Amino acid sequence: MASLKAKKPHVLAVPFPAQGHVTPLIKLSRRIADCGIKVTFVNTHNIHSKILESTSVLPENQVHNTGNIVLTSIPDGLSPEHDRNNVLEFIESLRGAMADSLMDLIGRINRENTEEPISCIIADITVGWVLEIAEKMGLEPVVFTPASAAGLAMVLHIPKLVEGGNLDVNGRLFPLHFFILEFELNILKISFTSGTVVGKPETISLSSDIPAWGKDELSWTFPVDLGMQKILFECSLDALKTGNQAKLILCNTFYDLESTACDLNSRLLPIGPLLNPDNSKSSSNYSGSFLTQDESCLDWLNSKPAASVIYVSFGSIAVFSQQQLDELALGLELSGRPFLWIVRSNLANGECAKYPNGFLERIGGGIGKIVEWAPQEKVLSHSSVACFLTHCGWNSTMEGVSMGVPFLCWPYFADQFHNQNYVCDKWKIGLRICADENGIRSRYEIKNKIQMVTADDDLRRNALQIKELALKSNGSEEGSSFKNFQRFVDHL
Ligand code: UDP
Repeated sequence: MASLKAKKPHVLAVPFPAQGHVTPLIKLSRRIADCGIKVTFVNTHNIHSKILESTSVLPENQVHNTGNIVLTSIPDGLSPEHDRNNVLEFIESLRGAMADSLMDLIGRINRENTEEPISCIIADITVGWVLEIAEKMGLEPVVFTPASAAGLAMVLHIPKLVEGGNLDVNGRLFPLHFFILEFELNILKISFTSGTVVGKPETISLSSDIPAWGKDELSWTFPVDLGMQKILFECSLDALKTGNQAKLILCNTFYDLESTACDLNSRLLPIGPLLNPDNSKSSSNYSGSFLTQDESCLDWLNSKPAASVIYVSFGSIAVFSQQQLDELALGLELSGRPFLWIVRSNLANGECAKYPNGFLERIGGGIGKIVEWAPQEKVLSHSSVACFLTHCGWNSTMEGVSMGVPFLCWPYFADQFHNQNYVCDKWKIGLRICADENGIRSRYEIKNKIQMVTADDDLRRNALQIKELALKSNGSEEGSSFKNFQRFVDHL
């Protein structure tokens, strides 16, 4: 007789192999696991080893199996020593290698664990082909997007832009056109105004309530490398396909922050801001960081006065010319403020950064602290931090918003430009650091903007108000994201 015992849910989480995609999905997985649901988190071998190396303080068994989360890995199709900086080759290889390995993995898990077979796959929107496996194997497919709801809305609008003849095959807006897309409730009402409009800004607007996208601010924009832009546009086309197929899209945002963009998509479930759960209350306790988080910066922050420190971080991907890094170093120094600066070992266009003459000696007295990687959420929530000089990656944006710090924006690529527009124009919690005619952010611009942001009470007040909304949305049972997440867990 078949067992009448109900099988327990078991989620398989599959991120895109990049820090900004793994981190929020790990946070989501920890929350799911804390509700007593088993999660198997699948990284590529390469990323898996990075995470294990960076969390080596944990005992071996705790690293692989923390509470209800099991960390496992599959090949990405490239040998360990292969250069993964060739993004096109990497993505092609992933596509080819992941599907079979994932199916084998699911088969093995289900044979070994008949009481808790995999019942649901949560796949990052950029690895949409994983959903085909879910369909083949009769598993519930769920999509996760680590970007904003507005970013998703923009990607879902690519067909309208192409149809209107407004984008070329590389995802570039045809010059001197501007468009207005309007929405009414969830029904798309599009009015294109296109043509040669001399002197008008080239923008795309989805609603008067969402900041417009300038022509160099699209979700796939990569100003320093048009080849990369083309690849990102192709990735956006994949995300478009996945976004259209998905029945449910979990998004790291909250309704009060992006209500209009959330309303544009009835299949979107805002469950953010996704933050690390309190380790003392969570059944698992690792961050999914690829680099070791240097906790020494927290002691350094303890030694600084309240609201005095500029925290400077550009996430895991952005790189700069040596000239630009020199200007940044000198601008921070000129500001006269203490600063904590994240300098990854490849920040100078893939190389180690060199500092201006005498810079390290001058800041050695304690005015500046440089580390390769920090526990960012803990830094942002530290009372000594005055503002966040950031590239506006969506994770960093959500973390900064949740901690109530004013922003200084310095976007590098893709959705970071639109996130900047949200920060500066819609939420009014930050200022732009602007490039000069040579594309350089000068030391004087950096110094001036630091002075302006730290002197601006309105920015700080607005930031604290949004922090309250963020706290409310996920921190209380009445919060919109809290309820959405609960609905999702009940559904599982
Ligand atoms: N991060 C971190 N330590 C650092 C810098 C960044 O833990 O020193 C984390 C940060 O908290 C965020 C992620 O790395 O969760 C970066 O994601 P984001 O979307 O901001 O930028 P990306 O790296 O994708 O450009």
